[in-house]
Amino acid sequence: MTLQHQADLSKRNTLGVPSWAEHLIDIEQDDQIPGWVGWAQQNELNIRVLGGGSNLLLDNRVDGLVLAMRTQGRQVLGQDDQGRTLWRLAAGENWHEVVRASVEAGLSGLENLALIPGSVGAAPIQNIGAYGVEVGDRLHDVEAYDCRTHQWVRLPAAQCEFGYRDSLFKRWENRYIITAVTLALSTDFQPQLSYGPLQALAHNPNLSASLVMETVIRLRQSKLPSPDVIPNAGSFFKNPQIDDAQFQRLKADWPELVAYPSDDEWKLAAGWLIDQCGLKGQASDAGVGCYREQALVLINPKRAEFLDVVTWQRLVQKAVANRFGIVLEREPRYWGSKGSGQFE
Ligand SMILES: Cc1cc2nc3c(=O)[nH]c(=O)nc-3n(C[C@H](O)[C@H](O)[C@H](O)COP(=O)(O)OP(=O)(O)OC[C@H]3O[C@@H](n4cnc5c(N)ncnc54)[C@H](O)[C@@H]3O)c2cc1C
Repeated sequence: MTLQHQADLSKRNTLGVPSWAEHLIDIEQDDQIPGWVGWAQQNELNIRVLGGGSNLLLDNRVDGLVLAMRTQGRQVLGQDDQGRTLWRLAAGENWHEVVRASVEAGLSGLENLALIPGSVGAAPIQNIGAYGVEVGDRLHDVEAYDCRTHQWVRLPAAQCEFGYRDSLFKRWENRYIITAVTLALSTDFQPQLSYGPLQALAHNPNLSASLVMETVIRLRQSKLPSPDVIPNAGSFFKNPQIDDAQFQRLKADWPELVAYPSDDEWKLAAGWLIDQCGLKGQASDAGVGCYREQALVLINPKRAEFLDVVTWQRLVQKAVANRFGIVLEREPRYWGSKGSGQFE
């Protein structure tokens, strides 16, 4: 465990963008955190927390101190008052391995969230979700180090302000360093099959958490490129949420519009909007483009630079805005250096 200077991040972000961090330290144990946070604050450095780098857009230079979370540990704590098993996991654990281990242990609740890349500690940040389930639905509490008060805190799920790809932690980026997550999982399998491609499983006599997980894995593998083969950061844009009046206006112009009710609003399929602009399977000279199987996934097969990625991001945003009057918001978080702008 040594402090690295000008640390290469190109293999630590799944988009494969070449990038260097001013300083980087691998965190193997939670008790290292206060010392490094103190060091960064004394030196007036930004503090950034890195998991698997699967939801980041990195500039060529990233300033400050990057704390790369590598802590490991899984512990069954017992049961909550609803009889669910409480499972505490260290932040550096791999999310998909945890999902698989939970299903193999006869626990259910995570099967729809299989094959999402990244770490356990990052899961609450944007309240990861897939196939009708969000991690906030399965969380008991989150443990973190508060860089502002220098206290260790434990936040029950109800205090984490979870929303669609959103949480308290995302709004207070880099204030809380998540060190552990406790999940509440059930031994009584309650399938969540509302998402279209999973509905067919409802009549399967062998329906189980394991079957749902394997189906989700197959579906994802058919639609999403593995970052190990084609660098990408998953869905590059959020699905825009619009009110009913705007939805009705769009639907009148575009009867085939793909949208889902979400609370009292509508969630538009951003991939469909991009597809309608003729961008699916298209790419720039730098190779940055929209994946041929799912336009929402921005791919970077030639490991092009940050500015090439941003150029394609803007081209997509402009095309969708011109055609539909909808502003697409990027999902991955941007990290840069002082004065490098926001690049939204
Ligand atoms: C192929 C592919 C498919 C994907 N599919 C989905 C999907 O279906 N649903 C979905 O929601 N997401 C999806 N994602 C996005 C991504 O996998 C998730 O957001 C994941 O939780 C990011 O984890 P990470 O460890 O890689 O985080 P990183 O990319 O390292 O970090 C992301 C953010 O979390 C913060 N962070 C990370 N760890 C901590 C910590 N311990 N404490 C405090 N802050 C922290 C970082 O500072 C940063 O702001 C996909 C990505 C890819 C590449």
